Amino acid sequence: MLSVTNLNFSYEQEPVLKNISFHLGKGDFCAVIGPNGSGKSTLLKAVSNLLDSPFTGSVVIDGKPLATFSARTLALQLGFVAQRTDVVFDFSVFDTVMMGRHPHQSRWQVSTPLDVAVVTEMLHKNGLWPLKDRQLTQLSGGEVQRVMVARAMAQQTPLLLLDEPLANLDVAYKFEVMKSLRELNREQKVTVVVVLHDFSFAKQFADKTLLLKQGELLAFGSTEDVLTEPNVRNAFDLPPCYRMDERGNVYCE
Ligand code: ADP
Ligand code: MG
Repeated sequence: MLSVTNLNFSYEQEPVLKNISFHLGKGDFCAVIGPNGSGKSTLLKAVSNLLDSPFTGSVVIDGKPLATFSARTLALQLGFVAQRTDVVFDFSVFDTVMMGRHPHQSRWQVSTPLDVAVVTEMLHKNGLWPLKDRQLTQLSGGEVQRVMVARAMAQQTPLLLLDEPLANLDVAYKFEVMKSLRELNREQKVTVVVVLHDFSFAKQFADKTLLLKQGELLAFGSTEDVLTEPNVRNAFDLPPCYRMDERGNVYCE
């Protein structure tokens, strides 16, 4: 589904992604974990073809090199939720989630009953139905984020990349978002790549984990093998007092 080979990228002089290689199959659920500035967002943007300058190495999605996709064909393969969304245009929640259907529509086509049904389902799935007629500027940060997740889900792509989708959410919605991602993953075999900061969510939901440190792939494999105390200590340079229990809770003794 997604093969990344020898990916290297720099914004300026300093390399930000260093020789990253990994492969995800259809239906994998992969957490991306690493310290601030380790390259997580850059990696997701590279895969989504959102970087302004070129990278070296290869990104292959569903057997085809990234460069061979048009914006539209890529949007049919891959949904992306950015770490931050600046609300620039004031659309309603419903219309924003409907934007996820655009790649499926021809240019001047109005929404079909299928589009409306999918948008309605994703609004319900993300607890947004009561907010459907609100303008984005009238929402909290966490609510905007859930709208962006719902929009990406409405795109119905085989691959979903989400950059810290839990960051502004309360604990109940964190679980709701992870549960609806897992549902799509299990029922539709959607491949999910999600940047997380909470090891316990990774351990509960992700079967694979990609651990980054300063642009390097420190470890990749099953979450159980990757999210060990020594790996986490190494990735985050944790002082000796820190411990991580088997559920992924970190504490200082
Ligand atoms: P993460 O998401 O893991 O916190 P990022 O991928 O956002 O990390 O950033 C990786 C590194 O690249 C950081 O050192 C960051 O300062 C730098 N960086 C990110 N975006 C830009 C940019 N647009 N221009 C220059 N440097 C950037
Ligand atoms: Mg980031």
